[in-house]
Amino acid sequence: MSDGTGLKNRGHTQADVEDRRAAVEEFSGSKLDKITQCCFDAETASHNCENMIGSIQVPLGYAGPVKISGEYANGEFLVPLATTEGALIASISRGMSVINAAGGSRTRVFGDYMTRAPVLRVRDLEHACQAIQWIDAHEDEIKAAVASTTSHGKLAKIEKFPMGRGLYLRFSFETGDAMGMNMATIASEAACKVIEEATGAVLVSVSGNMCSDKKPAAINMIEGRGKTVVAEALIPADIVEAKLHATAAAIVETNIRKNLIGSSMAGTLGANAHAANMVAAFYIATGQDPAQVVGGSMTLTDCEDVNGNLYISVRMPAVELGTVGGGTGLPCQTEALNIMGCKGTGKARKLAEILSVTVLAGELSTLAAQAAGQLGKAHAELGRGKKCQ
Ligand code: NAP
Repeated sequence: MSDGTGLKNRGHTQADVEDRRAAVEEFSGSKLDKITQCCFDAETASHNCENMIGSIQVPLGYAGPVKISGEYANGEFLVPLATTEGALIASISRGMSVINAAGGSRTRVFGDYMTRAPVLRVRDLEHACQAIQWIDAHEDEIKAAVASTTSHGKLAKIEKFPMGRGLYLRFSFETGDAMGMNMATIASEAACKVIEEATGAVLVSVSGNMCSDKKPAAINMIEGRGKTVVAEALIPADIVEAKLHATAAAIVETNIRKNLIGSSMAGTLGANAHAANMVAAFYIATGQDPAQVVGGSMTLTDCEDVNGNLYISVRMPAVELGTVGGGTGLPCQTEALNIMGCKGTGKARKLAEILSVTVLAGELSTLAAQAAGQLGKAHAELGRGKKCQ
């Protein structure tokens, strides 16, 4: 099959991949020797990638082990991280060694709902009110429509936002151990069909962007999306000085002036040093959807000086991850999840707790490096081994 450019598409057999690769080589005039060296066949990734021609490899390292006391993650964990940013894993490892020396970290999951927010067209405000009344009176019927599409997904809540001749419905789903976007999207379409038939409202888009998926959004910061997770550690003053070469007061001031005031002056959603760094490396390693780093980037980092000791905490309102589905079943990503004992059913909240402590460690180390004026030096030494080509 050809897409009009002469390149071959679709098809998941190894022969299809070879054909497409040859066509891309011919079209581009470049050899793809390395892209060819893929450790799984195309069939394995048939639900993850169209027009597959091979794979891109990203260096994988690890940080830890780190001591975690969570509701789901308890013990010491090595954390696999995929990145091309030199100095990142060294920094996270340093943060983890400080957390360990302080006796470990604590973490809890506070909310766990994936959202999808369709938009329906209504005639006017009165029609919007009638549709809302019907939805309120028929929640069981809507839940039954959802249940017909998934055995692990469950509709937990419907929020309604009327706006002009549009009605935005924000569905919140329990999604078991899946991140849940495919599940929630399919379920939302089924729910909307019932609503359309009964109310005459017309579905415009299954996603009306109040979900909000892959866009930074205040609604996700406030209400949460995926898992909302909080992690903390208390670092004694002597450990702050010996291992981070800083004081609690200097780190607290850096956090206030940089993360809190600087971020609010810049208008960021979330206030942190570089949470997206840890989330991206963690998501790529474990087969999550990398676009959902956006949710992780809205982390809020808090530091307090407690009698010279450093209290540090991160609140992650939108941790959108899973341990089944999506890219978690690919061979390398499965192995990475296995390093943390996080593959499969019953593991998603454990994975979210481990992520939160990884972010905590990265925030701690980077804030301390900046408080001590060491950030540029670390990157110069670890991240600039070779001149750019
Ligand atoms: P999925 O792989 O589409 O669905 C998860 C599957 O796992 C379901 O078939 C579910 O069965 C099954 N399952 C088995 N054990 C489970 C357990 N313990 N907990 C939950 N489910 C279990 O994954 P998804 O998480 O819904 O979607 C992730 C994918 O969506 C990613 O590839 C991501 O890139 C993509 N995505 C899609 C959209 C979109 O708009 N569709 C948006 C963003 C991202 P049952 O459903 O029968 O229970």
